[in-house]
Formats: sequence, C-alpha cells, structure tokens
Amino acid sequence: MGNLGTELDTDTRVEERSEVLPAHDGDHERFAHYADRDKITEAMVTGTPVVALCGKIWVPSRDPKKYPVCPECKRLFDLGPEGRMRDWQERNSGS
Ligand SMILES: [Zn+2]
Repeated sequence: MGNLGTELDTDTRVEERSEVLPAHDGDHERFAHYADRDKITEAMVTGTPVVALCGKIWVPSRDPKKYPVCPECKRLFDLGPEGRMRDWQERNSGS
C-alpha cells in the first residue's frame, strides 16, 4: 500500500534557474520548489516556466538536490491538497 496517489513527492524538487541571478541577491532564489510533476517534466522539455506551490514561477532544471527545499513550498506540500486549496483561496480572496 505504498502508493496513496500523491501527486507530489520529493522527487519533484527542482531548483531556480539561478545561473541568471546575481550572486549577492540570489539566496532566496536558490531553492528547490515543489510543483506538479507532469508540469515539471513538460517544462524541462519545453523550457516553459511552471508555477510552484508557493506561487513562484520558474523554469525547472536538473540537479535539484543541491538546493534546499523552498520553505513555503514545503509548508504548502505538508498541508496536502485540501490545505493548499484553502490556503490559495485565502490568498486570492484577501489582499
Ligand atoms: Zn517555492
């Protein structure tokens, strides 16, 4: 019963396209974000940016393991699908 149908796991971690960012200002960009696995796969092929759980838009690339997990993505991932839905709704309804 290992597979409970989660659409996300740690293998979906991908990192910022940090090579185009200034080193002195890139700390917050140097995270591995969570996003939908299918979108990441597609993005890696097409180079199309994807939206991470935290709302960040970035282009996934290989070798995510050298980056720490984005804290916001981690928090949202831990909330689960329903928790994320609520969180997004709160974010969109408030300011
Ligand atoms: Zn993130």
